[in-house]
Amino acid sequence: MKIAVIGTGYVGLVSGTCFASWGHDVVCADKNTQKITSLEYGVVPIYEPGLDELVERNFAAGRLRFTCDLGEAVKGASVVFIAVGTPPRAGHGDADLSFVYMAARELAPLIDENTTVVVKSTVPVGTGDIVQKIIASVREAGTFSVASNPEFLREGVAIRDFLEPDRVVVGVEDERARKVLTELYGVPLEACNTPIVVTQRRTSELIKYAANAFLATKITFINELADLCEQVGSDVGQLALGMGLDKRIGASFLNAGPGYGGSCFPKDTMALLRTAQDHGVTLRIVEETVTANEARKRRMALKVMDALGGDVEDLTIAVLGLTFKPDTDDMREAPSVPLIETLQRFGARVRAYDPAGIENAGKVLSDVELHRDPYECARGADAVVVVTEWDDIRNLDLARLMKIMRQRILVDLRNAFDPGVAEQVGFRVSAIGRATATRHDPHIPTAPPFAAAYVSPAQRAGAVHFETIGGSIDNG
Ligand code: NAD
Repeated sequence: MKIAVIGTGYVGLVSGTCFASWGHDVVCADKNTQKITSLEYGVVPIYEPGLDELVERNFAAGRLRFTCDLGEAVKGASVVFIAVGTPPRAGHGDADLSFVYMAARELAPLIDENTTVVVKSTVPVGTGDIVQKIIASVREAGTFSVASNPEFLREGVAIRDFLEPDRVVVGVEDERARKVLTELYGVPLEACNTPIVVTQRRTSELIKYAANAFLATKITFINELADLCEQVGSDVGQLALGMGLDKRIGASFLNAGPGYGGSCFPKDTMALLRTAQDHGVTLRIVEETVTANEARKRRMALKVMDALGGDVEDLTIAVLGLTFKPDTDDMREAPSVPLIETLQRFGARVRAYDPAGIENAGKVLSDVELHRDPYECARGADAVVVVTEWDDIRNLDLARLMKIMRQRILVDLRNAFDPGVAEQVGFRVSAIGRATATRHDPHIPTAPPFAAAYVSPAQRAGAVHFETIGGSIDNG
């Protein structure tokens, strides 16, 4: 089958390459000439484990090509995927669909008869209807189809997620789209028994948002439970284990941390809320998730300050891990950014290390000394703060790290280290949802007692604060 993919970013490039690996003839198109030129020279412009080799292999086999020429990409294609970005509209929260609509306008006069145009980008309910109208303004009705096929891959494990997904969702309005998409996915995924959910376009569009909002809520739930664990002396890791072994709950997305980030959850939860608002529906749980998560990301700076005795002015803080999660170079909505900015506002000097995100981090952070070596980053620091649990970071030699620091403080926002081991080495440890020995050190201010820290749901509607150290910075 000949396939065109419009938009060669994290989703478009992975999808196109994986389709090619299934034996299809794929052309990936992008407006970004630098990206396309780099791909033509065999250089993959994003960090995604395993992608370089897969691109190289399929490019060499002649199944995968790259172009800036949309006409060349869609010529003869039975299926054209739109995989362009749908970032949040500044100040509004809803998805900016201008890239999707532009791609639809541009491809409309160029596609062959009987082509199925598939929106893979994450788009609000009804976007497929508008894409249909855009194409119908220049093409005869019935000579093309528009379908929805949201993507669920996760950066860092994108290839496996694409080649062995939990499910594939396709939203179709006619037989042509149903046939071509069930054939495209059905044959290669038969071996792994992947269910293909064939539904209407509008339901398919909403499935993606509902899934992301649910996962964001699950993360926020365990994060709030982690706060409670710290107050009552429980361990959130054990708590998650005990909960997650229940098949109805499941173990994934129960890792407490500094709050979710990335290119999907923050923007998709906001866009879902806008859709609900536009239709007069209140999604209270999602609203609370968004509010709690935003507050949490900023509150992590208070945790670092708490570990350092309440004041970080002129102290040096080494942040280990910058990307929103390991195994990606993506810095979009990374929790490291508000953390670092808040610490800087309180007068701290911040250095940072990341195995793959330094280049992208340099575009969004200012006045941060960026390091390619974690030990150099930590040299002379008053505290190290683990924000992203890369294997490189988990495997650090804690004794070596401690020896080159000025103060021996480890703030582990990902529970990447066993606090007992770190304390044995000589660190004072502050972790997430774990009572550590550091918390009982009389010289370190502890979080306020439960009663003092509790804020009613009504109060939380304004600003969420379970920890009151350092005053309100959420509104700053
Ligand atoms: P991205 O920003 O990495 O890539 C988008 C690409 O589209 C860019 O290279 C851009 O130059 C190109 N583009 C924009 N307009 C174009 C046009 N008219 N013609 C050709 N190219 C054009 O975005 P992404 O992370 O790949 O996300 C794409 C979509 O997939 C979004 O809707 C996102 O929400 C969704 N999604 C992303 C992920 C993820 O993990 N990144 C996972 C699932 C779904």
